[in-house]
Amino acid sequence: MTRIAAMPLLPAAMATVGLALLAGAAPLAALPTAGVLALAAAALGAMSADRMRRLAWAGAAIAAAGMAVRILVPPPSAPDLAAFADLRSTLGQPLRRLVPEPESGILLGIALGDRAGIAADLAYAFSRSGTTHLLAISGFNMTLVATAVGAVLRGRAGPLVRSIATVTAVVLYSLLVGLGASVVRSAIMAGTASLGLALGRRAAAANGLCAAIAAMLLLEPAILDDPGFLLSAAATGGLLAFQAPLAARLRALPPVLGEGLATTLAATVPTLPIIAGIFGRISLVSPIANVVAVPLFPFLMVAGVSTVTAGVLSTDAARPFALVAYVLARVLRAVVETSAAIPAAALDVPRGPVTAVALSAGCAAIAIVARRVGLPPAPWPRWPAALPRPPVPSRRVVALTLAATVAIAAVAAALAGGTPAFRVRALDIGQGDAFLVETGGRLALIDGGPDPNRLLAELGATLPAWQRRIDLVVLTHAHVDHGAGLIAVLDRYDVGLAVAPRGLNAGPLADAWAGGIARRGIARADVGAGSTVRLGAARIRVLAPNADPLVDVPSLVLRFEIGGASILFSGDATEAAQADLLLEPASLRSRIYVPPHHGAATPYAKALASAVRPEIAIISAGLDNRYGHPTAETLAALDGVPIYRTDRDGTIEVSIDGPRLVVRPHANGLPPPRPQGIPRLSSPGR
Ligand SMILES: [Zn+2]
Repeated sequence: MTRIAAMPLLPAAMATVGLALLAGAAPLAALPTAGVLALAAAALGAMSADRMRRLAWAGAAIAAAGMAVRILVPPPSAPDLAAFADLRSTLGQPLRRLVPEPESGILLGIALGDRAGIAADLAYAFSRSGTTHLLAISGFNMTLVATAVGAVLRGRAGPLVRSIATVTAVVLYSLLVGLGASVVRSAIMAGTASLGLALGRRAAAANGLCAAIAAMLLLEPAILDDPGFLLSAAATGGLLAFQAPLAARLRALPPVLGEGLATTLAATVPTLPIIAGIFGRISLVSPIANVVAVPLFPFLMVAGVSTVTAGVLSTDAARPFALVAYVLARVLRAVVETSAAIPAAALDVPRGPVTAVALSAGCAAIAIVARRVGLPPAPWPRWPAALPRPPVPSRRVVALTLAATVAIAAVAAALAGGTPAFRVRALDIGQGDAFLVETGGRLALIDGGPDPNRLLAELGATLPAWQRRIDLVVLTHAHVDHGAGLIAVLDRYDVGLAVAPRGLNAGPLADAWAGGIARRGIARADVGAGSTVRLGAARIRVLAPNADPLVDVPSLVLRFEIGGASILFSGDATEAAQADLLLEPASLRSRIYVPPHHGAATPYAKALASAVRPEIAIISAGLDNRYGHPTAETLAALDGVPIYRTDRDGTIEVSIDGPRLVVRPHANGLPPPRPQGIPRLSSPGR
């Protein structure tokens, strides 16, 4: 009973949980049970002499009565939060513009609760290493919001005004990041703590948790099936009950390690049965991964939110914050991927309630036995007044982290130096084209493949993190396998000039291209045969299209030239266009050759190869693509020329320095793209 006195809202929370379970299993029995429970609790309350007990029973009576009303009255329609989703998207813009993928996706998840940008492979690594909770908005985010409001209002307002301002800020932040279960839970807890402080009450966090559980179930009993709600409640309960006793037992370890391990174990062990039951997975590396990853979290959160805040003023103001945020997210990704790659990182177990119950019973049995025999790691719940604070770093630690970040960035920049005169990369984007050309520090991207996410991942893995400018973006023609990915680059990178052929084939993709250019105010040039475009010291001659009425889809054919180096990109030149090109064979001569149309069959394959006389050929095509690209005839026509192809060699990097030509297959370490159909934005290029 002393425990109930310390936590007067526990009976209320238990009543709502029980009634919500019953409402799910036997809806007809729930209403009478709620009524009986409300009356019984009210009677017990009336009979109690002790004030705390009266309060506890009154709380339970109100909760049970509330549940009865909730069962009778249909739920209110969900409010329309589209405006907040738009605001979230706008605020996330500096992170998207300034940080490459996949770190950009991690930061959007941590700062704004937007997890849509996290690729499937990375999400799986987070899951295997037991660190997915870092990507959910949680108590630390709310603490940060409350601390910021407190700092602004210190000495300017009384406790009640401060508390109201804090609650308002927490509510607005919750609406901004989307009202997920863990968001609502931590917001209610932060709100109760803040009001409790203002009213001169001790902020009893365990009571706040009970209040949050009761309130959320009253609003929506079905939330009991939401993994986010279960995990968030279990982790918070675990932290409250076990963090302090565990930390006391681990006092022999250095404080950073002992506290970290206590926090990790207290928060993760209670979630184990839930994760195993719902997802069929137990992460064995979770304690180790979390001890390293969790201390990074406050820095990441602060750096991410600072980038967002500074980005409201201007993108340039956000740059230094974005660099720090990037380096921290890169370190977190390394920790997560390394621990997930350990062979026995996670155990697969059968899903279902049996697993969950068995695991819970196992954990409880271990704790009880350990306590009986007096083993040290057998903590017993001891309810603290407040949640253990997330490790808020000291000034010295902040300064050290900043210095280390700058040092890492400087070393990376130094290592990235020494670029050759000309470098071309065929990015492995699946079935389609995406070529990145680099010369004298300038960058051109010709086409972007079919999938924006894959292109952004390729660019993130290929370019240095601070390279956020692409001087020239070229769309050879508006087919999905060349353009769908490219549209994303207009929004994510600082683009100097956007180039497309005159008479670009119309359709949704051409509209998206024009829309993206207009939205970002990018300079554009529509070119045709005879035009020349400059990229630093390099010259780009446009050889096609030439407005020939026989060519139905005009596609750019480009010859890059600098010093003695030359590359011919043929795009998806049609047979009619190829015949036109062969009217001036001397203009085609190049050291690197990209044959037309992913190596599709053409009667001109042999003639083109003899006109170009390349040292090597590069073909971009998807593995086992349904068009049969590249065809045996095209490969045979290139007789004797070394051929590199993205379906086998991954991302291919070719550097030209004087007479030397260096080829590096699998150049950026990314796994091959998932085999996939081409998205239907418009007709696929054939
Ligand atoms: Zn194509």
